[in-house]
Amino acid sequence: MRTEALALSVVVPMYDEEEVLPIFFERMHPLLDGLGISYELLVVDDGSRDRTADLLLQAAEAWPQLRVVRLLRNSGHQAAQSAGFRRARGEFVVTIDADLQDPPEVIADFLKVARDEDVDVVYGVRADRSSDSWPKRTTARLYYRLMCRLVGKDIPFDAADFRLVSRRVVDAVNALPEDGRVFRLVIPWLGFPSAEVRYVRAERAAG
Ligand code: UDP
Ligand code: MG
Repeated sequence: MRTEALALSVVVPMYDEEEVLPIFFERMHPLLDGLGISYELLVVDDGSRDRTADLLLQAAEAWPQLRVVRLLRNSGHQAAQSAGFRRARGEFVVTIDADLQDPPEVIADFLKVARDEDVDVVYGVRADRSSDSWPKRTTARLYYRLMCRLVGKDIPFDAADFRLVSRRVVDAVNALPEDGRVFRLVIPWLGFPSAEVRYVRAERAAG
């Protein structure tokens, strides 16, 4: 339910991320404050068994924009994203993983491209896969080709779950009947105007 409109929601699914949490907050907090717009950091705790939920609730006491949603049991990355989409209040919604493989600094670029090019989707696209082995690159390419055929649209190659969508897209996704959605297929399938931002993916920060 949207009680109060915000400029930006950052949705982060988290499962057993206690190790990465302090670094994640350290990097995210100044960055989001520095954007100069109203925002919420909406963390979906996906039934973590470690101290993730405790640490989140503790951090939220000193950080009003941090909102914590707790799923009762572990439901998986995509289901946690769905839960975040349903609760997000932002005019733009960015999804990002907790492990800092996707540099949060790119969120500012997403917002700029969305506004300048007036698009509803900005895909984060990995600039290079040179760190991946040859078999991994090849199977990834085959997977994307097959999925493009199935979806009947171009899916940005090497787009992960790091992206920005507009409120129009969030509402369209939330209106879909099925719940077991794969965002990286459903969002291209919806066919909203889109752009890409290239970035270099890092190693998992911890955990
Ligand atoms: N995650 C989740 N539920 C799960 C597994 C993972 O919410 O059951 C979260 C995890 O905390 C992280 C994101 O989904 O923020 C991606 O997970 P991970 O980095 O392990 O996946 P990979 O980078 O291998 O795709
Ligand atoms: Mg990861």
